Amino acid sequence: MTIRKGKLLIIGFGPGAFEHITQRAREAIEESEVIIGYNTYVDLIRGLLTDQEIVRTGMTEEVSRAQEAVRQAELGKKVAVISSGDSGVYGMAGLVYEVLIERQWDPSTGVEVEVVPGISAINSCASLLGAPVMHDACTISLSDHLTPWEQIAKRVEAAASADFIIALYNPRSGRRTRQIVETQRILLKYRSPETPVGLVKSAYRDREQVILTTLGSMLDHDIGMLTTVIIGNSTTFVYEGLIITPRGYQRKYTLDSTVQALRPHERLRTEAEPWSLNAQEEGWDDDEEEPPVRMESTAMASAAASEPMKTEQHSVSLALEALQLLTAKGILSGGSLSAAVEATSPVRTTLSIFELGIAPGIANKKFTAQQMTMIAELVGEKGEIEYTPHHQIIVRIETEDPSSVVDQLKKAQLLVFPIGDVAQIKACDFCNLEKDEAIPVAEQLNRVIGGLKTPKELKIGINGCGMACYGAVLEDIGIVFRRGAYDLFLGGKTIGRNAHAAQPVAEGISASDIVPAIERIFKEYAEKGHPNERFHKFFKRVGKVAGFEHQDHHEPVAVDAACGD
Ligand code: SAH
Repeated sequence: MTIRKGKLLIIGFGPGAFEHITQRAREAIEESEVIIGYNTYVDLIRGLLTDQEIVRTGMTEEVSRAQEAVRQAELGKKVAVISSGDSGVYGMAGLVYEVLIERQWDPSTGVEVEVVPGISAINSCASLLGAPVMHDACTISLSDHLTPWEQIAKRVEAAASADFIIALYNPRSGRRTRQIVETQRILLKYRSPETPVGLVKSAYRDREQVILTTLGSMLDHDIGMLTTVIIGNSTTFVYEGLIITPRGYQRKYTLDSTVQALRPHERLRTEAEPWSLNAQEEGWDDDEEEPPVRMESTAMASAAASEPMKTEQHSVSLALEALQLLTAKGILSGGSLSAAVEATSPVRTTLSIFELGIAPGIANKKFTAQQMTMIAELVGEKGEIEYTPHHQIIVRIETEDPSSVVDQLKKAQLLVFPIGDVAQIKACDFCNLEKDEAIPVAEQLNRVIGGLKTPKELKIGINGCGMACYGAVLEDIGIVFRRGAYDLFLGGKTIGRNAHAAQPVAEGISASDIVPAIERIFKEYAEKGHPNERFHKFFKRVGKVAGFEHQDHHEPVAVDAACGD
């Protein structure tokens, strides 16, 4: 006679609502003969019960529940052990295995085990809050019932410093009230008090409660054993009552909006992600037909290959470095650095690479030694200073505070401008500022459209004499000052094997008319250009911009046969 082998079904039934119990979990409950679970959980799955034997236990009797389950299974029964959420996440699965192992369980001959997955609280609670868990996240149980508090505190600290989104399970009970207070204190060392926090109690159960709060004020609300606390990372934001964490860290700043999201076509490109492992290993493949968004990026990727920018450093040490820098510059004074960290708490520790163009002026091409020194100091060991094919100095600075970088540069009389898909004024040096009549126009152009968004980068060259030695006529838009007025060129193809100069479209435009004309051209391009469409393509496609006609270069030249033969 063969003894019937029992089976252990370790089932997570999800947050509580019937619809969120998986099909397999339902079947497993239905097919089992004995159900072992905490009272409340048995009540939650009542709808699925038929004639199963129920072994109900109190909350703290987990070990005896696991032992009882194993004992019944060894008697040959099919036993369901139920946990809320997922049974492998602070649930019964591990405990059941531990009991089995203690009894020298052999999977091939002993009772069969099936762990049935369920929706864990981090997932169910996140779904009620919006999309807070879009990036790297971790779960931390604040219960120090089975784990020493120092260990938990260490994990909170590590998760906070590494900018993880954190889901706190077992945040607080009648008896354990200090843990959540201490956790908040640790988190505030690394994250802003404004960090969005969601408190979800009894997700998908009768007494469901969803509260949107912040790290600073989360303790003003009711937090209990049935609550999961979800804490955003440094990029998490709130929109119409929803907590959203963007999928990636954004890196580019414009002067007006601080954060400039990468456009879809810029995403997933190695050179747009200088922090990625790929960027550190590969350069740009220069056989590509269309070069990268910005030519400059090629140099950047290869620079990164030889000397990777370290973007993943322990944030405390980075914060300390930032403070050191400020102290060295006399911006912060007195006290030890660690005291300064405490004093400036909460320290925002997420670094972004702040990328911007720098120039001594529109016409002035000469940096002073002091300016160079201060740029070098700002950029530091980890940043980059790049000289591009466009007479541009681009700097990349690791910083938590881009606006202070801009302030410092401006204080040093430097011009700062965003790079990428914006209008950029490229003026000549006006023969060392001697042929200076057109400088006010260049400066005015920079004031009115410099840095504004365009479908694709738009370079507007302006040269102060007919020599046009800075190549204005080779740009997207070229302006050449000659005989007291301005000649206008449109649609240069600045890159590629079939690069060509811009077309001359008008001559002798007056000083008062030229800026409005360029503004109109810019406006039409900004409004009607397709995303990512270069200006020369746009000009060709629309045929006429602000009244200036495109002439097709490839039209066969009509040969006047009259004078032939
Ligand atoms: N195995 C479960 C976790 C058990 S630990 C899972 O995977 O979800 C118990 C903790 O889980 C609670 O203190 C609470 O923080 C969280 N939790 C479980 N179910 C929840 C629900 N429906 N709503 C909110 N939090 C819940």
